[in-house]
Amino acid sequence: MKITDKFKPGKTLFAFELLPPLKGDNIDTIFDTIGRLAPYNPSYINVTYHREEVKLIERPDGLLERRVVRKRPGTVGIAAAITARYGIDVAPHLICGGFSKFDIEDALIDLSFLGIDNVLALRGDNIRGERTFRPAPGGHPHACDLVSQIMNMNRGEYLDSELEHAKPTSFCIGVAGYPEKHAEAPNLAADIAHLKTKIDAGASYVVTQMFFDNAKYFAYVDACRAAGITVPIVAGLKPFTTKTQLSLLPQTFGVELPDDLVRAVENCKDNAAVREVGIEWAIRQGRELIAAGVPALHFYTMGKADNVERIAKELFG
Ligand code: FAD
Repeated sequence: MKITDKFKPGKTLFAFELLPPLKGDNIDTIFDTIGRLAPYNPSYINVTYHREEVKLIERPDGLLERRVVRKRPGTVGIAAAITARYGIDVAPHLICGGFSKFDIEDALIDLSFLGIDNVLALRGDNIRGERTFRPAPGGHPHACDLVSQIMNMNRGEYLDSELEHAKPTSFCIGVAGYPEKHAEAPNLAADIAHLKTKIDAGASYVVTQMFFDNAKYFAYVDACRAAGITVPIVAGLKPFTTKTQLSLLPQTFGVELPDDLVRAVENCKDNAAVREVGIEWAIRQGRELIAAGVPALHFYTMGKADNVERIAKELFG
């Protein structure tokens, strides 16, 4: 079922995001997370996509070999396994980074074969250590281009000319939005204008980057509405878990931490106490967002679900 068909005015859905296991681990961690969170009736589950890393490995003969490796492969298979096992709808992420347009067409054909109706279309992160995003040869530079390609397929227009008789796909497309602006955007207005380009290209809902101050989300929604963006804007929440996140999250995601949260985390004697603060903070954020009727809360689980389980019990139990 399409995610946009699940949104109902005044009702807030529960959704969460999973990372594929590290290569070499097995899928049990994913099933364990879902098992813990399934009692709270998640409306859908997102599965992230991780781009490749390029490594130079010294061979026994002294020559350097260039290897392209993916630390967390398996997004498409995991998404399919979740639906098959739990009957819960999934929204696998699809990224531009590392993919040519033809690779993307193939990935979307796989998703379509598997009966997956939803996809979160993203540009993807930069290659580790690179400051600017470099599309793959024959790939897309921006998420809006990926949205356009998916919409072309939804109209039955494939890149591969031999597919002219293929049936149209019918993907519901979500995209990312940044209440505190994307790190590379010169300002929030420019970033929102780019978000509008993604919506105009065919995306039908937005999922926000994590935020810790609800006022930022509400102001963002207002600014999006003023810019003519009318689609549902799902709120992304990440429960705080460690002291190092005090510097890590602002650096990595460009988010500001409210003073009260910083003080509460600083006063914790260990990370077990930080986890408690994170749970309480997310519950408070969630209550206010639900009271405001946001379409869904999207929890970034980062692989461990005990905290999201407690939050979900409080908000959706
Ligand atoms: P875009 O929409 O392309 O925007 C990137 C930057 O370019 C922005 O600064 C924007 O303002 C600008 N821009 C956009 N369009 C144009 C244009 N036409 N012309 C000029 N400038 C433009 N990353 C992963 O690798 N895998 C994941 O699974 C993943 N999941 C995510 C889920 C969510 C909910 C969010 C919020 C982020 C996720 N990310 C993921 C991170 C994301 O890939 C990065 O934040 C990335 O840097 C930007 O992706 P985007 O889709 O927002 O890109």
